[in-house]
Amino acid sequence: MICRVCKAETPRPVLDLGRTPLANALLRPEDLGRPEPRFPLAVVFCERCTLLQVVETVPPEAMFGEYLYFSSYSDTAVEHARRLVERLVETRGLGARSRVVEIASNDGYLLQWYVARGVPVLGIEPARNVAEVAVARGIPTRSQFFSGAVARALRAEGGAADVIHAHNVLAHVPDPNDIAEGIAILLATEGVAVLEFPYVGDLIDRLEFDTIYHEHLCYFSLGAARTLLARHGLAVEDVERTAIHGGSLRLWVRHASVARPSRAVDTLGAEEGARGMDRLSHYATFSDRVWRLRGELVDLLQRLRAKGKRIAAYGAAAKGSTLLNVFGIDRRLVDFVVDRSPHKQGLSMPGVHIPICAPERLLASQPDYTLLLAWNFAEEILGQQREYRARGGSFIVPVPAPRIIAPGEHPGLGSVRTEGTQIR
Ligand code: ZN
Repeated sequence: MICRVCKAETPRPVLDLGRTPLANALLRPEDLGRPEPRFPLAVVFCERCTLLQVVETVPPEAMFGEYLYFSSYSDTAVEHARRLVERLVETRGLGARSRVVEIASNDGYLLQWYVARGVPVLGIEPARNVAEVAVARGIPTRSQFFSGAVARALRAEGGAADVIHAHNVLAHVPDPNDIAEGIAILLATEGVAVLEFPYVGDLIDRLEFDTIYHEHLCYFSLGAARTLLARHGLAVEDVERTAIHGGSLRLWVRHASVARPSRAVDTLGAEEGARGMDRLSHYATFSDRVWRLRGELVDLLQRLRAKGKRIAAYGAAAKGSTLLNVFGIDRRLVDFVVDRSPHKQGLSMPGVHIPICAPERLLASQPDYTLLLAWNFAEEILGQQREYRARGGSFIVPVPAPRIIAPGEHPGLGSVRTEGTQIR
């Protein structure tokens, strides 16, 4: 394979998770008897541009044609988006003559806040069914994949964009160069692009191996992102760390000709260098730590089962699917998975075939333990499940080490730190 960004020829192996089904390919009842396609899931590190990345590319059409992830089912994501939009409208003086474009705009959970403030928007969302939901909510959205060519057409049609959002997209496409090129083409001279992606620093430190799946192809550090953006005349002006998705970076990106990197950019860049994140040795023990975690978690679940305890799981998202499949946790250990999204209820988890139910099932069945697959929304979910916990239900947080949260316990789950500077 060659590196997705710099085309170097020999990225080095870091982690091999075996062959797994597509993490978001939830199964309908009639699919359960059919063979499921599985694809190799291995991660390599490019020593030239320092990008950690998945080797195999599954055709995006196979994954995004019909998509079941609707951002609006997470209160945390919607609130995170609202605060960000408020800030941009204020600091950049956006109004009726501005133009905001979001790449991979999902169901409009972010753009809706601009619409409410009278700022013209356009969403680009490849999953047709998700784009339709956004349009029905009054958010102009086109169902297509963003690229340099699409950016050129959009610019010719409606002019440059004052603000471009690309949240969880740069890391999710086979060719990040095409997205970066498109941003460079569409972004106004004085415009700003806001990019967010899970931070590889947190992935490694907090053993978040379950955020690795076929739709999430690249794991960026600040350094790797800067290298990519520089290839397209873009530069990072400011950086923040946010708690969302287990720890993400939010980059404020501008044309290199006008960008003035903040102290936060220099500080985080220096920290990455001091920690050796640009070298293969930083990633060398990751694989051993993942397999040790599998031993600990499976052992815990088996011991609970042996005592006659009943176990459920919370969160039918990609990371849950990855964890269950890679660790071989199936219906022998977990009875059912609950999820708030009605689009997922009634389906089953890929590979392990655990049925997905509504969260109310936790109260109806009162399992002794619930494995928190959606650990990135731990605080939100524990808050919603007060009654289940009050009646004696415990949660198990799987990463970075299995941890039981007893019914009366009020853990400080302050996810990750949220240091970082504010945009000027
Ligand atoms: Zn590379």
